[in-house]
Amino acid sequence: MRPLVRSKLVLVFALLLNVQTKAQGIAVRLEVDLRDAPRRVYHSRMEFPVKPGPLTLVYPKWIPGEHSPNGPIVDVTGVQFRGNGQEISWRRDDMDLYAFHCTIPAGVTIMEAALDYLLPKEDGIAGSPSATAQVAVLPWNLVVLYPEGAKTDDVMFSASIRVPSGWKFATALNTVSASSADSATFETISLTRLVDSPLLAGAFFKTYDISPGQKPEHRLNIAADSAIATSLSKDQLSDLRQLVAETGTLFGARHYRHYDFMLALSDHLPPNGLEHHESSDNRGPEKMLLDPDSLEGLMDLLPHEFFHSWNGKYRRPVGLATRDYQTPMKGDLLWVYEGLTQYYGVILAARSGFWKPEQLREYLAATAAALNDGRPGRTWRDLQDTAISVSLLYGAREAGASWRRPVDYYDESTLIWLEADATIRRESKGQKSLDDFCRQFHGTEDGAIKVVPYRFEDVVALMNAIAPYDWKKFFEERLHSHGPGAPLAGLENSGWKVSYSDEMNEHQRAAEQTDGIVDLSFSLGFSAHAAGEDINSIADVIPSSPAAKAGIAPGMKLVAVNGRKWSPDWLRVAIRDAKNTKEPIRLLLENDDYYQTFELDYHGGERYPHLESLHSTDVLGEIAKHRAPAIAR
Ligand SMILES: [Zn+2]
Repeated sequence: MRPLVRSKLVLVFALLLNVQTKAQGIAVRLEVDLRDAPRRVYHSRMEFPVKPGPLTLVYPKWIPGEHSPNGPIVDVTGVQFRGNGQEISWRRDDMDLYAFHCTIPAGVTIMEAALDYLLPKEDGIAGSPSATAQVAVLPWNLVVLYPEGAKTDDVMFSASIRVPSGWKFATALNTVSASSADSATFETISLTRLVDSPLLAGAFFKTYDISPGQKPEHRLNIAADSAIATSLSKDQLSDLRQLVAETGTLFGARHYRHYDFMLALSDHLPPNGLEHHESSDNRGPEKMLLDPDSLEGLMDLLPHEFFHSWNGKYRRPVGLATRDYQTPMKGDLLWVYEGLTQYYGVILAARSGFWKPEQLREYLAATAAALNDGRPGRTWRDLQDTAISVSLLYGAREAGASWRRPVDYYDESTLIWLEADATIRRESKGQKSLDDFCRQFHGTEDGAIKVVPYRFEDVVALMNAIAPYDWKKFFEERLHSHGPGAPLAGLENSGWKVSYSDEMNEHQRAAEQTDGIVDLSFSLGFSAHAAGEDINSIADVIPSSPAAKAGIAPGMKLVAVNGRKWSPDWLRVAIRDAKNTKEPIRLLLENDDYYQTFELDYHGGERYPHLESLHSTDVLGEIAKHRAPAIAR
C-alpha cells in the first residue's frame, strides 16, 4: 500500500540528518503549548537541524502499545514549514498520507515546523479524546514529525512544555529547567523515549509517593475534573505500595529510573490504559477512586499497565519491536504481550490487596463464562486470529461481538496462562510456578531501559527450562482451538469450576452499574444499554440463544416487556416469572421505524456465573496470595 523506499537521495539525506543528530548531540527542539487544551487544541513547534535538498517528515502512524496504524493524522492541522523567515512549501505523499515532502533551500540550516493537533471530544474513527476542560494528557506522538527513514532511537528531541496558568503536570522525563510553574524543558532524549513518556497536566492535580524512602522512586500522579476526585484512601495507598513490593519480589529487576503512574480521572475521557517503560497513561471515570463499583471494574488497570513495563516494553514480541512508527506491527504474539499481562494484572491486583479472593473468583467466573458460553465465534475464528487481527478488532463495534469475537487474546489468554501456571506447579511438584518464568524472562538486566525482542520459540524454550512439558503443543492447541467451549482446565486444575445460580455475579453487577448495561447473556442471551447515549438498544445477541431464536438482533431498541415499559428490573421480574409458566416472555422492540413483539420461549430463570470449589486444594488461592512482605496498614 505504501512505497517503502522513495528515492535514494531522500533516504541518504534522512540518514545523514540522523547520524549528525545523534553523533553531534544536535536535537530537534520541540515546544508544545497546552494552554488551549480546554478548547481541545495542542500547539506544536519544532526546529529541525537540516541541510539543503529534499526532506520528508512523517507523522507517527503505528503507535507502540496501540498495535494499530491509528496515529490521528486527520486532526493534524496548520502544518507550516519555514526557514530563514521564509515559508517552505510542502506536498503530502500521494500514497502515504502520513508523509510531508519539502525541499530545503540553500542557506537554511534550521527548519521550523508548526502544527496544531485538534482533539476529538468523543471516541471515534479519528482517535480518542485526550483533554477535558480541566485535564490534558499529552502522548507526544500526537504533536511530532520526524525524518522519514530515521530509526526513532536515533532522532534526539529536546522538548519543552507550557500548560494553562495554575495547572500542574508530571511526566517520567527528567526536567532540566523550569522558567515558571507553568513551563519546563526536559532532558534531551530519543524520540522513542519521548513518545514513551507522556505528560499529564491538570487544574486539580495530586502526586502520591507510593514507595516512600525507596529507590527507584514510584509515584502516582492524578489529574481529575475535580479536587475531590484526586483523593486516595489510606487503604488504596497501601495497596499501591504493596503492588510495588510485589513486582520487586516477582521480577527481581526493574527497567526504569523511576516510575510514574499517570491517572486522568474524567467522565469525558474513555477508560483506557497505555503502557510505557517508566510510566503508564491510565484513564478512568471521575469517581473511580470514590465509588466502589467503579473501582471494582478497574482494579486491575494499574497492575496491568505496571506489569507491561516488564512484559511489553522491556520484553517485546519481535513483530511489535519496530524501528520506527511507520513500519507495520505484527500482533501474532499478543497472547503473551497482552495475555500474560492480563493474567498477572488480575493476580497482582489480588496479591496487592485491591481484590479480595472472592472478588478475583467472581471476575474469573464472569470471564470464563463469557468465553465458554458466549463465544460461538470461536467455531470460525481461533484465538490466534484475534491477535493477528488486532488493528481491526480494537475499533470493532460491540454489536456482533459474540460471533465476530473481540480481542479475546486478553481474557482467553488469562485462562491459558492460569492453566500454564497450574501445570508448572503440578509438573514441578510445587517447586516452580509461572513466577519463575517471569523472573527469568523479564527479571534480567536491572536498570536497563531497552527492548529485548522475543519469538514464540523463546517462550517455549524457557517454559521447558522451568518445567519440562510439551509447551509448544500446549500453546498451539489452545491458540488454534475451535472449541467447543473455552479452555477451562486451568480453573479446574486450580480447584474451581464455573457454575450458575440465580444470584447476581458481583463483578457483573458492578460492571452493570458503571457501564449502564443489563447483561442477560446466560439466560435470554443478550445484553442491552440501560443508560447513556445508546439507552434501550440491544448491545449484542448471542447466536442460538433464546433471544436470537426469537429473532432479536443488536441495534434494535427495547420498548416493553410483557406489555409494560421495560427496565432492567422488569426484565428480571419477567425472567423469574417465566420459570413457573409455559407462557413466553414477550418483548416489544423498535427496529428502525417498525415495532414488533418477539416471543422468547425461555423458562430457565436468572443465570449468573460463579466459581464452585471442586476440592480442598485451592491452587488459585495460593497463586493470589501476597508474596512480598506485607506493607503495614
Ligand atoms: Zn495491556
